[in-house]
Amino acid sequence: MVKIQLRARKIYDSKVLKAMRAVPRHMFVPLKYKENAYDDTPLPIGYGQTISQPYIVGLMTELLQVRPEGKYLEIGTGSGYQAAILAAIGASVYTIEIIPESGNQASKVINELGYKKVYYRTGDGYYGWSEESPFDGIIVTAAPDHIPKALLEQLSDQGKLVIPIRNSAGSQTLWLVEKRSGKWVLVNHGSVAFVPFIVSGGDGGESKSPVIHNI
Ligand code: SAH
Repeated sequence: MVKIQLRARKIYDSKVLKAMRAVPRHMFVPLKYKENAYDDTPLPIGYGQTISQPYIVGLMTELLQVRPEGKYLEIGTGSGYQAAILAAIGASVYTIEIIPESGNQASKVINELGYKKVYYRTGDGYYGWSEESPFDGIIVTAAPDHIPKALLEQLSDQGKLVIPIRNSAGSQTLWLVEKRSGKWVLVNHGSVAFVPFIVSGGDGGESKSPVIHNI
């Protein structure tokens, strides 16, 4: 998986490659997909959700430039695999899942594997986790149609946000968002296909970020 799906596609960060070698991906997929756990594809994890393709996990983790002592927020715990990758690098991980059954299962697996410093809660990640902010990085693994403003507000000074955004035509782009010299800088990292971001209340209204609309 690491050699063919990651290194051959230019994922070179040794911390990321090491973590992806170490974390047993088969523990995060349902029994009937165990044999396919290391395939070059996303897989269903129940509740209409998916565990991302290994390459996408590698790419998003590399874009975050994870520091082993850093503090990171994930929106969309899903299977828990992405959180385990961040934890395997040594980071503290705060992860939010809107579907309680899915998040509870994920935290069970993460505990069984002994990853410390992973903090889970059920809820709507649209609003982030303000009590624990600021974060060195935030990774969103479901696609909203704009950048939730709360996530920008909860980033540390040099923090990075990695997020798929769905446009009005339905296609999605992966963005790296960083604050540099007081300005938001967005870098396009290509087309992706994530499950939709579930909106629990309202449509964001006035809290919609102007950033994405200014591209
Ligand atoms: N990072 C996951 C990928 C999970 S798929 C993994 O490694 O397996 C995306 C997840 O985002 C789904 O479980 C979905 O329920 C969750 N999600 C969607 N909208 C959300 C929201 N508003 N807040 C929190 N989680 C959300």
